[in-house]
Amino acid sequence: MNVILVGPPGAGKGTQAEFISNEFNLNKISTGDLFRENIKNNSELGKKANEYVNSGKLVPDQIVTEMISDWLSSNNNWLLDGFPRTIKQAKSLDNILNSQKKILNSVLLIEVPNHLLVKRLLERQKIEKRSDDDPQTIQVRIDTYEQETSLLIEYYNKLGLLTKINGSQSISDVSVNIEKKLLNIKKKINN
Ligand code: AMP
Repeated sequence: MNVILVGPPGAGKGTQAEFISNEFNLNKISTGDLFRENIKNNSELGKKANEYVNSGKLVPDQIVTEMISDWLSSNNNWLLDGFPRTIKQAKSLDNILNSQKKILNSVLLIEVPNHLLVKRLLERQKIEKRSDDDPQTIQVRIDTYEQETSLLIEYYNKLGLLTKINGSQSISDVSVNIEKKLLNIKKKINN
């Protein structure tokens, strides 16, 4: 089963991605984590991504797409957390999957209202000290989501791949919900 996880910053994508990959035995890639790791290690990729990640802007499509394309060529049964984030990335993914003869089975959208996102991200900053969780950068990230990433909702809805999840509930309730939806999708794939 091949799945994409979409949601605004603070929706709980990272936490639920961990749950899904364990529960359904999926290979996971979290683009945000990968960038943060590379920035920490000051790698070539980290140097290229640093200024974008720290200001809350998207890393240029080409850099992200190359990274994902490499990863997909050696992974099956996956969960993409944080990719695609633009229509251009979604179209590149379509091309990559066509050329690798792979199929996308589902796109999970975790929905959370904006006021709750800001509250959660500010709380997270106190604990994790992520450099992009300060109030100004949070707003840039939410605006970027609304202007760019949210366009994916219609894109994948038209393809009949979108499943919406209410992300305002507790972590465990969201997980239960996701599990039910993915079990149904898995059944359909196997039939
Ligand atoms: P996240 O951990 O998913 O919130 O991502 C943190 C940051 O990494 C984002 O604000 C972007 O700067 C960068 N990033 C992660 N995924 C992507 C992507 N698919 N395209 C462009 N930038 C990304």
